[in-house]
Amino acid sequence: MRRSRRVKIVATLGPASSSPEMIERLFEAGVDVFRINMSHSSYDVVKKLHAAVRSAEARFGRPIGVLADLQGPKFRVGELGGGSAMLNEGKTFAFDTTEQPGTPDRVFLPHPQIFEAVEPGHTLLLDDGKVRMTVTAKSPKRIEASVVVGGVLASRKGISLPDTVLPIGPLTEKDRNDLDYALRLGVDWVALSFVQRGEDMRLARQIVGQGAALMAKIEKPAAITDLDAIVANADGLMVARGDLGVEMPVERVPGLQKQIVSRARAAGKPVVVATQMLESMITSPVPTRAEVSDVATAVFDGADAIMLSAESAVGKYPIEAIRMMDRIAIEVQHDPNYNAIVHATRTPPQETSADAIAAAAHTVADTLKLAGIICYTATGSTALRVARERPNLPVIGLSPVVATGRKLALAWGVHCVLTGDPENQAAMVRKACRIAFEEGFAKAGEGVLIIAGVPLGSPGTTNMVRIAYLDDQGNPVAEGS
Ligand code: PEP
Repeated sequence: MRRSRRVKIVATLGPASSSPEMIERLFEAGVDVFRINMSHSSYDVVKKLHAAVRSAEARFGRPIGVLADLQGPKFRVGELGGGSAMLNEGKTFAFDTTEQPGTPDRVFLPHPQIFEAVEPGHTLLLDDGKVRMTVTAKSPKRIEASVVVGGVLASRKGISLPDTVLPIGPLTEKDRNDLDYALRLGVDWVALSFVQRGEDMRLARQIVGQGAALMAKIEKPAAITDLDAIVANADGLMVARGDLGVEMPVERVPGLQKQIVSRARAAGKPVVVATQMLESMITSPVPTRAEVSDVATAVFDGADAIMLSAESAVGKYPIEAIRMMDRIAIEVQHDPNYNAIVHATRTPPQETSADAIAAAAHTVADTLKLAGIICYTATGSTALRVARERPNLPVIGLSPVVATGRKLALAWGVHCVLTGDPENQAAMVRKACRIAFEEGFAKAGEGVLIIAGVPLGSPGTTNMVRIAYLDDQGNPVAEGS
């Protein structure tokens, strides 16, 4: 099965989409990577979802990615007497360390790290920003704040601190346990929530090792400040627009989306645009025009993937939402301005042979109007460097490593085929032509460009470019380099 869409689709699994039959239907409708939200799923459910994706993979013969999204540090206030309290604008409200039910004047805050790091002048956002306060005073056991936007505060609601860099590591105890479970199952990507610094990613890498690819969710102002270091230490990024729009003024989200996508693209790391893309399709079979435009914008930005959250997890129309994303993405790809817009943000190759060859491959394939670029890729890095070019023709990754195929399910434009490494260069060219022919990417008379690092199986040595034309059996008839 091949898709003609270059941007990938990530769908979050949930009660609306958890049966094995539904997962197969979602894949057929266009899902490339399934996201499991570790905040909401028991291990029993996670195990079943993972097994269902793997069995869909076996049935369709295509690598499918699984992304485990860790909850991250989520801070909550304690209980309020009677369940909630009205906090009026202009009033002073306190957070303290006394485990007594809260009142309209105070509430228990069970997070010592917040008392340690918050400073007068910092903003506090409660219940996803519905109530807003400014800290006026703090001591080791009490924070006083003035209510700027009032509202009802209910027990156990979340508290966010957009201005405060908290003295916490990248993984909570729950995250560590969830991560351990997800790695043992064999997920392909792990997403870290509320990343603050590049250092968070380095520490997480020490724990994850090479067990899965590591994605940084960008949703905090501190992460924007340290974006370069985060990009350098991550395998991929997510523009987590939900929390980003709580922690920062919502009108800044579109500009930040462009910034994050372009930095990830420059680094050649897959980037996902997430949250509320087709939100109205949770309850409606058709999206709003603004949502269609939002999805199209992410595709024009050159994002690797676009994501559905509640639409596919709990919505009434998960299949329709995926089909809609698929149709929008394909339409944008055919837009006469698409190439010019996508390449407007292209950045020059870095000084490596992989980048030089990827850039040359793009130019050669374009000039000769070849049918595809085929790369032998053990770790996926050659394919990612080619995808970074956003070439206007199919990119086919050939890998003997199933984990590489699954990881590349998230990468822009890459169709990965699992196949053993050929013995020599002639066999390499033959195999590449045959697969391009069989998978429907190249016909008799058409040419393909083949790139690899030889000897095969030595990651990071991209050093070979070949051009081959196909005969009517899919064998190479002529080649040059
Ligand atoms: C987000 O905040 O946009 C996001 C994707 O994170 P989550 O859905 O885990 O809150």
